[in-house]
Amino acid sequence: MVECAEDGCEAEAVVELHVPWADNRRVCAGHARVIARQDGVVADPLDGRDEEWP
Ligand SMILES: [Zn+2]
Repeated sequence: MVECAEDGCEAEAVVELHVPWADNRRVCAGHARVIARQDGVVADPLDGRDEEWP
């Protein structure tokens, strides 16, 4: 499995975030919801994870 890229988070990453001001990162669904609220961030479900990121 891929671990969430956020510090201190050991949840499984299910989404790849495309962040204009930083490197792409893979994060868990919880972190993706928070980070994806910011302007310009695009959240892409990882392969096979589409159901976890509607
Ligand atoms: Zn996380």
